Amino acid sequence: MSKVLVIGAGGVSSVAVHKMAMNPQIFGHISLASRTKAKCDAIAESVLARTGQTIDTYEVDAEELPAMIKLIERVQPKLIVNLALPYQDLAIMDACLATGTHYLDTANYEPKDEAKFEYKWQWAYHDRFREKGLMALLGSGFDPGVTSVFAMWLKKHKLKTIRLLDILDCNGGDHGQAFATNFNPEINIREVTAPARHWANGEWVETPAMAIRQPFEFEGVGPKNMYLMYHEELESLARFVPELERARFWMTFGDAYIQHLTVLQNVGMTGIEPVMYQGREIVPLQFLSAVLPKPETLGATTKGKTNIGDIATGEALDGSGEKTFYLYNICDHEDAYAETGNQAISYTTGVPAMIGAAMMLTGAWAGEGVFNIEQMDPDPFMAMLNTQGLPWQVKELPGPVAF
Ligand code: NDP
Repeated sequence: MSKVLVIGAGGVSSVAVHKMAMNPQIFGHISLASRTKAKCDAIAESVLARTGQTIDTYEVDAEELPAMIKLIERVQPKLIVNLALPYQDLAIMDACLATGTHYLDTANYEPKDEAKFEYKWQWAYHDRFREKGLMALLGSGFDPGVTSVFAMWLKKHKLKTIRLLDILDCNGGDHGQAFATNFNPEINIREVTAPARHWANGEWVETPAMAIRQPFEFEGVGPKNMYLMYHEELESLARFVPELERARFWMTFGDAYIQHLTVLQNVGMTGIEPVMYQGREIVPLQFLSAVLPKPETLGATTKGKTNIGDIATGEALDGSGEKTFYLYNICDHEDAYAETGNQAISYTTGVPAMIGAAMMLTGAWAGEGVFNIEQMDPDPFMAMLNTQGLPWQVKELPGPVAF
């Protein structure tokens, strides 16, 4: 029986825990711990009502190593699934090393005082995990996560090499709020206000945030404007698909979102430098995050679909010259809510987190050290996407993207 301990009790965690409970043959025993135990209990209640499975809940601050070690020794999990925030990644990896526990997450480490995320901090743990015979799997959400698995599946089954890669992330959902982010507001706003960066001819090209816009017709959603952004899987893809000539990441935003964000930025509300307010320090972005709608409350009102996928161009495996393929998933917000009580952004992240955990617990994916998802066989993961609520489709396009 495989025991798993999930850390964090937000929207992504809620979906992952529901889906784990729906697969009891893989997840024999589930424990859930977070900073606020009441949130764990609410998830446990919903899981019991929907699946009949009971999960244990605990309160823990993942940044406190002794408390984490005590909890892990009590629960004795084989694997820790980190669905808290990127700030906690290193602390949770330390706890895994101290207790001999495997590790998985969905977002790479980000220091609190610098809006910067990169893999170097977590890659630096490779030797320590290898020496202990442990596996850490980084970035098992949708993007990062599925988008990299999509690229590796295309490279295994359709293309000998990938020359051009575009990742297109479209959320066509409408939550009915004037302004809200669909995952953790602080992390989301740090990500979209950072300069855009893409990979071209062996180097990073930086452009101002939200400066490059491209209209695109998304199946299941319709026409949307997408914006060039930096996203963390570009770093691992550039490393593990070394032949890439160009790799870009695009995300759709509505005009209302951009207008609100521009105003918030202009008045300093997205800053991460502390300011003094009534005798105490506050971080403007953290305050903003506290007043924005909580992503896990958006599910009940969100309608529409997401469409996230990869367009890859390269030399065909069958020797027929250069080919372009589009591999994508369409997810419906209302279906996701009906199944798990959460909207599609949490769903499209929580399901791949559960699948990555299933890969590790069943031994379909194994290794000693720190791994990115690109280093694993895409086939068993792709098969589970189809059976666990995120079916994908692939089609050939007439040629490379025109933009
Ligand atoms: P939420 O903010 O909804 O949830 C985060 C949870 O972590 C909360 O329950 C929070 O507790 C808990 N937490 C925060 N700090 C600590 C701590 N020190 N100790 C213990 N628990 C803590 O986030 P989401 O569910 O939206 O996102 C979860 C993760 O998924 C994030 O890392 C995010 O970046 C990632 N993500 C990845 C995506 C992908 O496709 N790869 C897409 C979307 C998100 P409390 O309730 O007390 O605040």
